[in-house]
Formats: sequence, C-alpha cells, structure tokens
Amino acid sequence: MCSAVHSSPIYSGTNPEKSRIRVTFDPANNLYMPVLASGYTPAECAGRYTCTLKEKKYPECAFCRASCPSRDLFVDPDSGLPLKCDMCEEAELAEPACVKVCINDALTYEEREEEGEPAKIWGELEVGLDSLIKKYGVKAVEETITTLASD
Ligand code: SF4
Ligand code: SF4
Repeated sequence: MCSAVHSSPIYSGTNPEKSRIRVTFDPANNLYMPVLASGYTPAECAGRYTCTLKEKKYPECAFCRASCPSRDLFVDPDSGLPLKCDMCEEAELAEPACVKVCINDALTYEEREEEGEPAKIWGELEVGLDSLIKKYGVKAVEETITTLASD
C-alpha cells in the first residue's frame, strides 16, 4: 500500500521493494516491530547493536531506519534514491495508508502534543536532493541541474 500511494498516478502500481515501512513479526511472542524509513545516511555507522526483544536476538541493523550504503533496504530499486516515510503527507489521507490497511493491528497511528517546532516532513524531491547533496556536494548537484535544465 505504501508503494501504491507513492506511485504516479497514485494507486497505479505496487512494489514491496519501494515500501517505506518494514514490519518484523515474531509469531512466538506475537510481537510486531515496525520500522519506518527515515532517509539517507552517507556512511555506515560504527556503533551497530544487536537487539534482544523477548529473548529473541535480532541482527545488527535490523531495526535501523536509515537508507545506508551497507544494505539495499529503503532504496528505490528504479532510481537508486533513498526512500523516506512522509506519513502519506502528499497523498493527504485521513490516516497513513499502511495503518489503514493493516488488518492485524500491528500498526496504529496517534497524534501527540509535543513542545517546540513540529518536525519538518520532507517530500520525495527534498529527500532525493538532500541525499545527492550529501553524496556529491551541493556544487556538483547545482551544476548538474543547470546542465540538465539547459539541454
Ligand atoms: S543500516 Fe543503520 S545501523 Fe546499520 S550500518 Fe547503516 S546506519 Fe548503521
Ligand atoms: S505512513 Fe505512508 S509513507 Fe509512511 S510507511 Fe506508511 S504508507 Fe508509507
């Protein structure tokens, strides 16, 4: 459903590889662990941890939200650009699409009062440009856009 919401036009296709959420399910403990894509990181981190939940061990990186060079997760298989959950902001749904279709109630959505400025939610364009700038530098990205625009 996540990929369907983000296809163009909306709902025109599905591809699980383009999903911005993965849910790990441990049937022995009836445990669901959702991980939402959070965007690009240019390098693998040094402090990776294995996780133990209800005595079950999960490998390093299992619950990391990053689109990271160490793995293919949360990377658009067509463009190679990172995927980031935008809470279905652009689709302007009453509630996130993944929550709406989750028949097992593994996902719930609630709004919380938080102090301070609300976190900025980036659209696809901002996420893609941000990752390209982190990877190639702002000057190279600017020059490429200028070249492409003048072609
Ligand atoms: S996937 Fe996450 S935890 Fe694993 S190396 Fe990359 S940033 Fe670190
Ligand atoms: S909230 Fe929307 S963008 Fe985020 S994972 Fe769910 S369906 Fe995808």
